[in-house]
Amino acid sequence: MMSNISLSLDEIFILAKNVFFKNGCDEETSNIMADLVMKAERDGSLSHGLFRVPAYVSGLKSGKINGKGNPDIKIISASVVKANGNNCLAPVVLNKSIPELIKLAKENGVAILSITNSHHMAAMWPETEIIAEQGLVAIACTSYKPAVAPAGSIKPLFGTNPISFAWPRKNKPSVVFDMATASMAMGEVQVAKREGHKVPLGTGLTKEGKDTTDPAEIADGGVLLPFGGYKGSGIAMMVELLAGALVGDNFSYETAEKDNNDGGPPSGGEFILAISPDKLSDTDWDTHSSKFFDKMKSMGDVRLPGERRHKNRLDKGPRHINEDLVNKIKSLS
Ligand code: NDP
Repeated sequence: MMSNISLSLDEIFILAKNVFFKNGCDEETSNIMADLVMKAERDGSLSHGLFRVPAYVSGLKSGKINGKGNPDIKIISASVVKANGNNCLAPVVLNKSIPELIKLAKENGVAILSITNSHHMAAMWPETEIIAEQGLVAIACTSYKPAVAPAGSIKPLFGTNPISFAWPRKNKPSVVFDMATASMAMGEVQVAKREGHKVPLGTGLTKEGKDTTDPAEIADGGVLLPFGGYKGSGIAMMVELLAGALVGDNFSYETAEKDNNDGGPPSGGEFILAISPDKLSDTDWDTHSSKFFDKMKSMGDVRLPGERRHKNRLDKGPRHINEDLVNKIKSLS
């Protein structure tokens, strides 16, 4: 039987910090990564908290990821910040470059952060939420390695390509949407396989390219589909272009050709856009959008994206973590 152990948020931070520090990260990188992991557990982003630590360690051990590196941040123009990650983990690159993005967006109304050569395997809400907390609208996306077939194909080309959007609110948590463009994460398909559950039609295809509700047929040589048929396929394509050719980094299929397959996050690009509603709108955009959100929420069983996480965040108590995972992480430090 799976057993859990209780860890306070501080204990989660220390557990994560130790393992990053012992695996080649300097103090700063260890702190940034531990903070990210702790916040994912705090908010209930469980697929991107402690669960990902062993994969980060694989990437550090193989030497693919530089835990002591320093990204190069350049201001290219009034509205463009360019960050070369120099093989650092994306949260480190974001930590150094997002303040520059925020400054330019506030001054000029709009700014873009173009990131290359960084390793992203985290949830995407941390980067858009922190921008929205400064009164800016944010959109971020990144690609990965092929896992999802474009509409019409039975072979993977797109990564699970997450996209995140955050809308600022005065005196309230931002409204943050953060989703993979795959119909379902491959991890969830594997869990359904293990537990003998079916998955919805449209989740993926068999290796012969047939529709299926059997997760085993998708996990064992089949392929995931984008959410929403050709429409999701179009959005996954958009993510490839924005986080690939536009910022000057790889498409997912190129990433796969270059990656050493150590299980850690591969090197890739990220695109982030920040927009100032104060500069764009000459109305009271905050009251206006609040009315819209109130209307949305009055229409039945509607909740705003991000609300689940923000509710979890209010709980300052311990989190219940899978004991095997904790032991595995301890064994890595
Ligand atoms: P989900 O499908 O769980 O959630 C997607 C979004 O929808 C969230 O913003 C969520 O808000 C919101 N939401 C969920 N249910 C409802 C509802 N009933 N009503 C309104 N809003 C709702 O996420 P995914 O499985 O698609 O992605 C999980 C994570 O994986 C993301 O954080 C993503 O960034 C990350 N990821 C990272 C990759 C990488 O390469 N770095 C690759 C792929 C994914 P809430 O959080 O409040 O529930």
